[in-house]
Amino acid sequence: MSKVSIHKINENVPSQSENLLEILNLKTYYPVKGGFFKRTVGNVKAVDNISFDIKKGETLGLVGESGCGKSTAGRTILRLLKPTDGHIRFDGKDITKVSGKSLREIRKDMQMVFQDPYASLNPMQMIGDIIAEPIYNFSKKSKAELKIEVMDLLDKVGLPQDAYYKYAHEFSGGQRQRIGIARSLALRPKLIIADEPVSALDVSVQSQVLNLLKDLQKEFELTFLFIAHDLSVVKHMSDRIGVMYLGNMVEIADKDSLYAEPLHPYTQALISAIPSPDPRVKKERIILKGDVPSPINPPSGCPFHPRCSMAMEECSRSKPVLKEVKPSHRVACHLY
Ligand code: SF4
Repeated sequence: MSKVSIHKINENVPSQSENLLEILNLKTYYPVKGGFFKRTVGNVKAVDNISFDIKKGETLGLVGESGCGKSTAGRTILRLLKPTDGHIRFDGKDITKVSGKSLREIRKDMQMVFQDPYASLNPMQMIGDIIAEPIYNFSKKSKAELKIEVMDLLDKVGLPQDAYYKYAHEFSGGQRQRIGIARSLALRPKLIIADEPVSALDVSVQSQVLNLLKDLQKEFELTFLFIAHDLSVVKHMSDRIGVMYLGNMVEIADKDSLYAEPLHPYTQALISAIPSPDPRVKKERIILKGDVPSPINPPSGCPFHPRCSMAMEECSRSKPVLKEVKPSHRVACHLY
């Protein structure tokens, strides 16, 4: 069983574990304002009490439909959003409440690759300057040293050296994502949170960028939190996979175990929707009824019960906890 799920994180004791990241009971709620005085009248429970860990050098995939809280979880871990409750332990330190200079230092080691690299690249800045900026902000390197480093990073992500002098609009979507990846690597981080990094790219380019990320992971000894809605992409990238539904982690397992024997009815539906690589093999697709409920007013008990074909009386009354039912395979469902 995961270490974080059985031991409360002690904020003052350095972790000896092989985990780079430990998330315990993390919640991120957004207040909903209403009425004349704009008082808080409720909360959007975007992330609602999730726990997981990621070992050094591992890739954990996080999947689920749009709005399930996976991106919010990634941004909260990076401390771009304030956690409402719970703990984030990174590289042996509790970083849930760090701020100011300490947070800035931690951010060197945790970087994000965004879905839309174009939106995150300044159109007025030369690519060389965009990639050099984080190094410049954190070191006292000379211009000549910075240039050598940027040229090396361009090479590592498969871009020609003259990309240094160009601007974002001169590149294709796949090339822009390579620029975003080069920038995220500039400070030699330990953890990369990749949020839908290929979903905006043509299918023909997606596998090139995914393979690049895999190669860089080996070369830079990176740990990945890989967020995506496409289960085929996540399968290609991940060692383990967590499935989120309405802010909750409903299943987490080794990749092979999850795809061979998904236990949660929601995971079963997601996996049934993956097209078979062999068109002669017919798969029965599980169609989910209804839409994802609002995270402002989530259903009682199991958050999936209004859509679950296996729901029992108990499911609307009590919320199932995530528990280990097979080695390295945990599920939150009353059927187990
Ligand atoms: Fe379905 Fe009940 Fe399991 Fe929820 S707890 S997934 S409603 S069977």
